[in-house]
Amino acid sequence: MITAEKNPPVPPVGLSPANLTLPKEGTYFVFVLILSILFWVLLAVSMVGLIYAVFIGFFVWLGNGLLIAYLRSEAVRVSGRQLPDLHTTFAGVCHQLGVTQPPSLYVLQAGGMLNAFATRFSGRDFVVVYSDFLEALGPSSPEMKFILGHELGHIKSRHILKQIFLAPGLFFPLAGPAYRRAWESSCDRYGAFAAQDVGGSVRAMMILGGGRQHGPALNATTFASQLTEERGFFVSLHELTSTYPTLSRRVTDLLALGTGAASTKPPRNPFAYLVGLFIPGGNVGGGGGPVAAMMMVVVIGLMAAMAIPAFQKVRQASLQKACFNQERMLAAAFDQFRLENTRGAKTWDEVVGPDKLIKTMPACLAGGKYTADYDENNGYDVSCSVHGSYLHPKTASGTTP
Ligand SMILES: [Zn+2]
Ligand SMILES: [Zn+2]
Repeated sequence: MITAEKNPPVPPVGLSPANLTLPKEGTYFVFVLILSILFWVLLAVSMVGLIYAVFIGFFVWLGNGLLIAYLRSEAVRVSGRQLPDLHTTFAGVCHQLGVTQPPSLYVLQAGGMLNAFATRFSGRDFVVVYSDFLEALGPSSPEMKFILGHELGHIKSRHILKQIFLAPGLFFPLAGPAYRRAWESSCDRYGAFAAQDVGGSVRAMMILGGGRQHGPALNATTFASQLTEERGFFVSLHELTSTYPTLSRRVTDLLALGTGAASTKPPRNPFAYLVGLFIPGGNVGGGGGPVAAMMMVVVIGLMAAMAIPAFQKVRQASLQKACFNQERMLAAAFDQFRLENTRGAKTWDEVVGPDKLIKTMPACLAGGKYTADYDENNGYDVSCSVHGSYLHPKTASGTTP
């Protein structure tokens, strides 16, 4: 049991800067990359897809820009003069992980949430620690080193960039979440290596799970055993669809680093894989607070991008359909006039009028003008200047002449 702070730190066994990233992260990367490339190629060959891509890209950029602006103006930037203890800890963790250009570190008040995240905007990396997490862990503790190391792991592995370019693959059921979980598992290894203290790393996790007051005193080994004791279909499904490894999984893996033994991997319910295949892996709003707000902007932008063209398409199609019905009615009237009078109508007035075949002239809802043509073989064909005729429809551009 690792709880007492007085114990000498236990460095993680078998970790070196060369093996912090788990091999399975590379395997999933290839898989998600192929899925993403397929999607981007599909998008590129369809012109509509390109418009979507530009639209989505714009909103991702806008949302991220707003998040960064929020950080730069509302959060506290850590430096040698501001929270110097935390600044020193961060510099040490950067050095330990071989990060030569330390990202900007910010402390953000986020309504009691215990969390941290890394992000990137226009070539600059950012690490953000929520203020309550800083209070819970302290500025110089191994727990804080673990958290900072974890976030630096995301930056060193370029996960933020990958999140954008591999977004289609990350959305893919099973593969996407599995890749995201591999990120987090790798980054926990970065954290443990940065802290050089497995007990401190585990305590940081227990504070995430049990809160700042009781978290540090919780029995981590007992908590880890929940991974093997609490199984079943829904736990398996939760694991498969989650973008984070479960907390019991993460604590189990960290504890294993203390001894160098292989971590336990309890089997999953096979049926959960089948159901998981239908649940997309798009759950990216895990950060909460400003990250969730940014995701809202992105989601609203996405919905607007999808809804506006789709709505216009439906609207244009229904206008055209209504127009064609009127054309058929007019053409039928011209045909009937010809039958009754053994000659064709010379003007519209012979067919349309209060005492004629059609009482009032129907109007195209898109403002088109009707013309009637007659040929010996096909009879009458009424055509609209906007929509064309039902025999020769114009491709709907939606513009009125
Ligand atoms: Zn993470
Ligand atoms: Zn029309």
